[in-house]
Amino acid sequence: MYFRAFFLLFSLFIFSSSLAANDAFIIRTKKTIPVYIENPQAEDLTNASKLLKDYVFQIVQSRLEITNNNPKKAIIQLKQNPQLHPDGFVISIQKNRLTIEGGTRKGTTYAVIHLLESLGCRFLSPDFKIVPKQNQITFPCQTIEDKPVNDVRIINLYFGENPEYRDWLRLNTIEEVYPEGYFVHTFHRLVPWEAYFTAYPEYFALVNGKRSIDQICPSNPELRNIIAQNLEKEMKLQPGKQKWSVSQNDNFSYCQCDQCKHIIAEEGSPAGPVIHLVNDMAARFPDKIISTLAYQYSRKAPFKVKPLKNVEVMLCTIELHRHESIETNPECADFKKDMEDWGKISSNIFLWDYTINFNHSISPFPNLHILQPNIRFFTKNHVNALFEQSNSTTGYEFSELKAYLLSKLMWNPELDLEQEKQQFLQNYYGSASQHVADYIHALETALKETKSKLWIYEHPVVHQNGLFSENRVKNYKAIFDRAEEAVKDNPVFLNHVQLARLPIQYAEMEIAANNMFSKRGWYEITNGKAIPNEELKRTLDAFEKTCIRNKVPTVNEAELSPENYIRSLRRMIDVNMEGNEAFGKKVSASVLPDKKYQEGDLAYLTNGVNGASDYNIHWLGWFGTDTELILDLESLTSAKNISINSLWNGKSWILHPAEVACSVSSDGKNYFPVGKIQVAGEQQKEDPIRNYLFQVENKSYRYVKIAVKGTKKLFNWHPSAGEPSWFFLDEISVH
Ligand SMILES: [Zn+2]
Repeated sequence: MYFRAFFLLFSLFIFSSSLAANDAFIIRTKKTIPVYIENPQAEDLTNASKLLKDYVFQIVQSRLEITNNNPKKAIIQLKQNPQLHPDGFVISIQKNRLTIEGGTRKGTTYAVIHLLESLGCRFLSPDFKIVPKQNQITFPCQTIEDKPVNDVRIINLYFGENPEYRDWLRLNTIEEVYPEGYFVHTFHRLVPWEAYFTAYPEYFALVNGKRSIDQICPSNPELRNIIAQNLEKEMKLQPGKQKWSVSQNDNFSYCQCDQCKHIIAEEGSPAGPVIHLVNDMAARFPDKIISTLAYQYSRKAPFKVKPLKNVEVMLCTIELHRHESIETNPECADFKKDMEDWGKISSNIFLWDYTINFNHSISPFPNLHILQPNIRFFTKNHVNALFEQSNSTTGYEFSELKAYLLSKLMWNPELDLEQEKQQFLQNYYGSASQHVADYIHALETALKETKSKLWIYEHPVVHQNGLFSENRVKNYKAIFDRAEEAVKDNPVFLNHVQLARLPIQYAEMEIAANNMFSKRGWYEITNGKAIPNEELKRTLDAFEKTCIRNKVPTVNEAELSPENYIRSLRRMIDVNMEGNEAFGKKVSASVLPDKKYQEGDLAYLTNGVNGASDYNIHWLGWFGTDTELILDLESLTSAKNISINSLWNGKSWILHPAEVACSVSSDGKNYFPVGKIQVAGEQQKEDPIRNYLFQVENKSYRYVKIAVKGTKKLFNWHPSAGEPSWFFLDEISVH
């Protein structure tokens, strides 16, 4: 775990309420109070009573004595009630008795948390909670009932790993709901092609006239029996689990055999054959829920077949933009229709939603305003389970706020979100809260004014003239300067403000890297000299300090650590011009780089700038091939050191080359070898940047040949094994 604990105990005394003693249940300070729990074997009751005991002591220093006999003496009682929603509760507050009844999953725990929240207690991030001290606890007499709108509420990533934080945010985990290995993409697990393909090719998808291991044929009757048998075996191994996924693998190759084609035509969607198969399984296992995906090729609902009652449909929003809500954005019309169509035929829909910038999770992503309308839209269309792929990792953009608001919305999509947001900001940023609110408002306003779109894979540079224009960034920085000033004497709030500031610092530095020698770049060229931007360097130092102090684990989905990100950024801005004989010289290549990156312009190899961690910036890429580079230094030299770099980003299919060999020549015909460097192994985990240094002894030369052999293919460990691999090169230097 990555979290530092600095729990803050507010020395805030709230003096006795104006309620008369007759209207309230009161716990006075430094008392001993008997508490009855009906069944000490029930985990949730034990958990709830411990939580209540712990917090009551912190708030008023009174001790709860928990027992499971003599209920009449106890003035607080905790019970389970199987009639309630498993996470729901009823709290009955009378003058002399507090009775808490909860559903059998977490109902009593959530009831206790509800009571503690009514006293001002808050759990705002895994390492920050608020417990107001009081001279007595006063609960006004009333009956409180509550239950969640969504039965399953998941926010993934690191925050959700803290069990107490998870309880306060009323969240589930994937592991709790789904059996191991049976969450999504299970066709392969149920029918491994390694075991069946050779003997029974007809069990697998017919794609372009050939059987393919990518997917199964959902219509094959024999295969259905095998799936049922394998499922039954697996269910015996994990008997406590109710939901079982029978769902497509993660690719687009659905079966087009005659039978499947016929069903697809009738149903108007490749989801047709899948739902027929899944219904068959649901009928064979009536006491289980069979879950399946409506994802990519199967996202469109079928016309005729309806999922059985014990079928769960898992619908994914991966393709959508995030600047406007689904219902109001005309670009989301397709998804909106699919959602509504599924909602008409199923009331058991699990929605997998994305509220994150996947590639740059640490970059500003102003989507707070669409969270509530989207969750309301899902709920209206019979979604009852939500998986929010969101920022919930230290350092990601507003992770604490987003995880908090999303969890509240999943419980109750109709709550007053603005009020929750304001309260959060006050509690989490103290005297800086208004400034942080101003920053959020400024971003949202800019989003509207510039009509910018938000996409879950975007690089901050796409917004350099809009959301992150020079003037706007200046304004955001001024707001954060005021925010830091407002809490400069409170290290905890100051740290929260600095965490909230990371995203705009990141965007600014990425934009600078992309415009290296310009007004917004790391260098400005004045009279032919590159003058470094000192203010940006200070930004990098501040960014580094905040990341290290908070142990920010990664800056993006490729799991790049801040340490590696900062190191490669420093390498890049440490321009390589003075004394570099390769600077500005011509390079040719036997196989040209792909035009996707820097338009394949070979001049990038000798422009004096080292590519940093992002392959989009200053790197040239070659795909599934080798190449030979020839550098012409224009005159003879006896420089000793020749070097070049390569990049590694396994998730993005980029591996280091298998081999880099260097030779030199004075005439461009006869080459003298100076060295060969190989990269051993399958490169499952590698340094993001490798440097290949060749030393030339006592030779004068004009031409340098660098022969690069790629690995050509992705190795077996890679999810896309066998597909072509990239290698990325940058900056040849000769010193
Ligand atoms: Zn088929």
